[in-house]
Amino acid sequence: MIAATLRRTLVPALALSVAFAPGVLARDAQTGTAQTEPTASDVQDVAIPDERVTSFTLDNGLQVVVLPDRRAPVVTQMIYYKVGAADEAPGESGVAHFLEHLMFKGTSNYPEGEFSQRIAEVGGQENAFTTDDYTGYYQQVASDQLEMIMTYEADRMSNLVLTDEVVLPERDVILEERRMRVGNEPGAQLSEIVQATLFANSPYGTPVIGWEDEISSLTREDAIAFYNKYYTPSNAILLIAGDVTVDQVRELAEKTYGQIEQRAEVGERERPMEPEPLAERTVTLRDARVTQPSFNTSYLVPSATTAEEGEAPALDVLSDVLGGGTTSRLYRDLIVEKGIAAGAGAYYRSSALEEGVFVVYGTPRGGANLDTVEDAVKAEIDELIENGITEEELERAKNRVRKGVIYLRDSQTAMARRFATALATGRTIEDVETWPERIEAVTVKDVQAVAERYLKPERSVTGYLLPEQIESAEIATPENTTGTQDSSGARQDSTPAMSPAGNVADEESRS
Ligand SMILES: [Zn+2]
Repeated sequence: MIAATLRRTLVPALALSVAFAPGVLARDAQTGTAQTEPTASDVQDVAIPDERVTSFTLDNGLQVVVLPDRRAPVVTQMIYYKVGAADEAPGESGVAHFLEHLMFKGTSNYPEGEFSQRIAEVGGQENAFTTDDYTGYYQQVASDQLEMIMTYEADRMSNLVLTDEVVLPERDVILEERRMRVGNEPGAQLSEIVQATLFANSPYGTPVIGWEDEISSLTREDAIAFYNKYYTPSNAILLIAGDVTVDQVRELAEKTYGQIEQRAEVGERERPMEPEPLAERTVTLRDARVTQPSFNTSYLVPSATTAEEGEAPALDVLSDVLGGGTTSRLYRDLIVEKGIAAGAGAYYRSSALEEGVFVVYGTPRGGANLDTVEDAVKAEIDELIENGITEEELERAKNRVRKGVIYLRDSQTAMARRFATALATGRTIEDVETWPERIEAVTVKDVQAVAERYLKPERSVTGYLLPEQIESAEIATPENTTGTQDSSGARQDSTPAMSPAGNVADEESRS
């Protein structure tokens, strides 16, 4: 059902985190106009080549962002509440995700299922997801159905009705979701442990879906309290993308969301911060279900929100050069030249209100053992810290960003999500628009500097995923495992078995 929410565990989560990485931002910004966060009286327009991104704020505090896109008669609505798992009270892990499920249970105006049914009737799509930092709901329909989806979405912002008859069975659904996604997945279990180790004090150490015992004790009252505290217009961002005009959206927004009273004052989002890490940490999970050993090293780094000027784009280029694709250093060295890895790569999870994570990973192939693969990955990092990257590598990375810009423009949802995510994690429209410029400004020295500053062993946690019978990582070769392997030796999968840093929750279709 709905969204799954296991941050950092599943392959789909990784795919999303990569797809929405800042490196693939949506437009070539030619703005030059300085902006500030919008206020009630402030309409801001950002000049971009074909269309304009407009933002305004309703009297009740709801921020509205409009992304015109007239290529097809389709509209996308996204509402993002600026609350996620990292805002939960101690002992109540999972309540943000629990409420996300419960938002589909009907209101005082419409019975359970009616909204989804209407969307299905008009051939639309919908989804929802929970992350550490925000909870999002979206629909995509033909543009003449915009008022319909805005009416239903606005309605459930304040009129949700929850009874024990609907809440308690849904809690069982979530417990089952956890069993399926974590209990049955050793890689996901290890990811939870890696995160809990990397984030000893930050709430990012708690899984988005929640710990099992705490999910079991969540009540209707907990969900309602969370809803009343956080689901209020001033704590939300409404994003409408597609075949619409700003005037249309403004009129419909006033008519629907504009009628909702401010229900609570949500203060500053203050969270415990992670202290400066001092010790390299490793965790090992052995499980009979593991057929292929792998390792995954997560480094504590700044996010796009917390980084100093220039650092986030440099980290993005770094991840691309080191392990972002078939021309990356890890791919060429470990997979092509040495032939020791079935998969190896790197990625940077930059979208977060607080800390970010930089990850490298590898899986051995053929007779290679896991230590050899890990050593080769770490040697590439050392080499990069020592000698930096080349101008040619930098240019290739920038080129991929430019291509990503063009590619992302093709997806209305990806574009909309890009803006909504940035705004929900403490960034601005301008930050999104100027991302390509800031990538262009990255130098080889910047990349070397962030590698040296952040890819230090003491900032890292390494997780080992091993088959049960293997005594140590040193003899963890596929020959010693019971898993099947491709006899051709072809690379089957470059995706890590665990993806501890995807804080974009996974999601699945509700239909
Ligand atoms: Zn779920």
